[in-house]
Amino acid sequence: MDFKNVGGLDAQLDDIARRVLASRANPAAARRLGVSHVRGILLSGPPGCGKTLLARELSRLLGAREPQIVNGPEILDKFIGEAERRVRELFLPAEREYEEVGDASALHLIILDEMDAIARKRGSMSADTTGVRDSVVNQLLAKIDGVKSLPNVLVVGLTNRPELLDPALLRPGRLEVQLRVELPDKRGRRDILAIHTRSMREKNALSEDAIDLLDDLSDRGMGARTEHFSGAELAGLVRSAASFALARAVETGLGAGADGMVAAADLERALKEVRPA
Ligand code: ATP
Repeated sequence: MDFKNVGGLDAQLDDIARRVLASRANPAAARRLGVSHVRGILLSGPPGCGKTLLARELSRLLGAREPQIVNGPEILDKFIGEAERRVRELFLPAEREYEEVGDASALHLIILDEMDAIARKRGSMSADTTGVRDSVVNQLLAKIDGVKSLPNVLVVGLTNRPELLDPALLRPGRLEVQLRVELPDKRGRRDILAIHTRSMREKNALSEDAIDLLDDLSDRGMGARTEHFSGAELAGLVRSAASFALARAVETGLGAGADGMVAAADLERALKEVRPA
């Protein structure tokens, strides 16, 4: 399985390949072994470490329809019944397709970002929101494993606060594959930097000294310079270095047609501009 845009997270990717992808890659073997498709996944961890990215890659690898990504807080609504309606609507495209073509339906991923906003432990919220959120949790449970649950849906919940979630959602048959997506370690940082400079390398837009410095930043004992950087911050570092290179190309009047190139000095300036949160 080729998660080519996700750096680090090898153990998590292995888990996903075995527990989520395999049954869909070989349904006949899965049936023989009595392994059913996973219906839900929970990815938790600090911001910017690749939860959304991983969910999107998963969708691509599964050949799913363009995933629906919804933000938990956006679903909440002060009008009674409105939030549940929104949750129900998320499942509609999959329901329609399943009605039409049955098991020939493509897979539909429903990605619930900031899931803790709508799926907190029932009864744990202040009076004004408790009712709404409890019924959203109930609606989600009904959709994930109710009588009319669909085999062509995979729900992916994302959260920074997994401890707030209603435990009923995490039982087997529901969001049963739960993975932590943490800040990258040294190797992860090297992989992430490589991913985000891949196209620059291909286009010959990285100078020799920049390539050396990139290796240093992650590989040769100087990893500390990017320690505590999230994947998003490493991507930001590369973007910042590129912007310095571009500004230089513009300033020196090379302008149109000139090849900008990222040098080590651009990365050094970027390291001053982009700091880990
Ligand atoms: P949040 O909790 O804030 O929603 P998140 O964990 O979902 O954060 P993403 O939105 O997936 O983080 O990450 C933002 C961007 O940072 C990605 O689109 C990607 O460019 C980069 N990025 C983050 N983690 C990784 C990673 N492990 N490998 C490669 N790129 C990454």
